[in-house]
Amino acid sequence: MAEHVIIGNGVAGIKAAETIRKHDPDGKITMIGDEAYAFYYRPQLPEFVAGKIEEDRLWGKKKDFYEKNNITSHLGKTVTGIKPDTNEVILKDNTAINYDSLLIATGGSIKRRNYPGSDLNGGIVQLKTIDDAKNIKEKVKSAKSAVVVGEDFLTLSLTEALHSSGLKVTYLLRGDRLWPEIMDKDASDILLLRLKGKGITIKQETDIKEVYVKNKLIHGIITTDDELIDCQILGIVDKLQPSIGFLNESGVNTDNGVLVNNKMLTNFDNIYAAGDVAQLPADLDSDIPEINVRWLKAWKQGQVAGSNMAGNDAEYDDIASISATQICGIDIVSIGVSNPLNGDYKIMRGDYPHPEIDVYKKLVLKNDRVVGALFIGNVQEAREVTKVIKNRTNYSEIDKKLLKQMFDLNSRFGTFHGFLCPVCKLELPIPPDAKVGDKITCPACGIELNVTEKMLK
Ligand SMILES: Cc1cc2nc3c(=O)[nH]c(=O)nc-3n(C[C@H](O)[C@H](O)[C@H](O)COP(=O)(O)OP(=O)(O)OC[C@H]3O[C@@H](n4cnc5c(N)ncnc54)[C@H](O)[C@@H]3O)c2cc1C
Repeated sequence: MAEHVIIGNGVAGIKAAETIRKHDPDGKITMIGDEAYAFYYRPQLPEFVAGKIEEDRLWGKKKDFYEKNNITSHLGKTVTGIKPDTNEVILKDNTAINYDSLLIATGGSIKRRNYPGSDLNGGIVQLKTIDDAKNIKEKVKSAKSAVVVGEDFLTLSLTEALHSSGLKVTYLLRGDRLWPEIMDKDASDILLLRLKGKGITIKQETDIKEVYVKNKLIHGIITTDDELIDCQILGIVDKLQPSIGFLNESGVNTDNGVLVNNKMLTNFDNIYAAGDVAQLPADLDSDIPEINVRWLKAWKQGQVAGSNMAGNDAEYDDIASISATQICGIDIVSIGVSNPLNGDYKIMRGDYPHPEIDVYKKLVLKNDRVVGALFIGNVQEAREVTKVIKNRTNYSEIDKKLLKQMFDLNSRFGTFHGFLCPVCKLELPIPPDAKVGDKITCPACGIELNVTEKMLK
């Protein structure tokens, strides 16, 4: 009987476990995760912090899921090393667990930059785990204001969550724009306007010079412009770094993340990696190897890895870099190379940006082929454009109706009546005969939802 071991109890790990169980009903499955909780929906943490949803809406699996599926779980346990020569995983308490096939699905952890005074942990927060979310909710009770510094979408999520919790929030951007990985300046300006409209103070090209601490408590920060800003909560967020430290002595090939091929296989023939920790080769001629934080990507890669661990021959053939989210009520979808930095790319963006409309759409071409796209505020054509990019279509071959709908402001709102899945944030098709209270399942990530009046509007 095969022994499958999965390190990481996030979406990539859980999807792999479910897939293995489907293909190998009798195989032994062991899951190890350092968070002491059953699987939960990480992208819903900001809404939980903001008090928009209760804790019970976070759970993706009940505690008895593991027992019911004959999975041995070690939750709250940390893996400190693996030994491919003896097929062993080593836990912090030195327990060794044997495997025939192993999945590394350890995601990433938020790197925090240090500033003078920031070694005092008291008021400094981050939002990655359910424990982080609970910690923030507790601190918000006695706080009036917060400062957040950073530019990518984890920082944006934290900023929005703190603001929605009722705090006065100042957001420091070290550069001139938000989320530079996917956004050009015009796209970023649309979102910045929305954040300002909500009452969030934005300071661009400003960093922290010093954290102002009194009686071991954070009282504020001093900016690089020598301004003192009061705050009791401080969010410092840098990029998510793949959690690969425990692989140092293992011989598993890593770069930024664990290097895998499109079967999610590492350089060992029985060790796989999937999700935020995995690094696929560059796709779409982008020169940029992809390892970005994306729920749906982790979900699909877990499925491919699980299938292969159970003896199949599955391949991950999606675009590695699709990102869908919602910030301040604005839908954002980025596909492929959405913000190229060198001059080999051509940008098509029709009538956008427009000073009065907070919608923005663009296509990125390389040698006439569409290699990337960005949608802000209206994501109506995102699914169609994903197919265009995946099929390596030339710009001249794209359906003219699709281009008109994307770029012609007169048809900008077209017929989109979609609803975005609260977990994977991709369009959720609502059946035409759906009624309030019916149950529907997101075809992309599998979450089950009750149909509400809002969805039917
Ligand atoms: C606040 C927030 C909002 C987000 N919003 C969106 C969104 O709107 N859209 C979107 O597409 N994505 C979003 N994401 C990103 C998305 O959640 C991730 O891409 C996804 O969770 C990655 O899944 P994973 O299984 O690869 O890793 P993870 O979900 O990070 O799970 C990995 C697990 O492995 C554990 N682990 C790590 N090291 C060890 C070890 N040595 N031993 C044992 N266990 C270990 C970790 O603690 C963790 O529990 C959001 C993330 C956050 C934090």
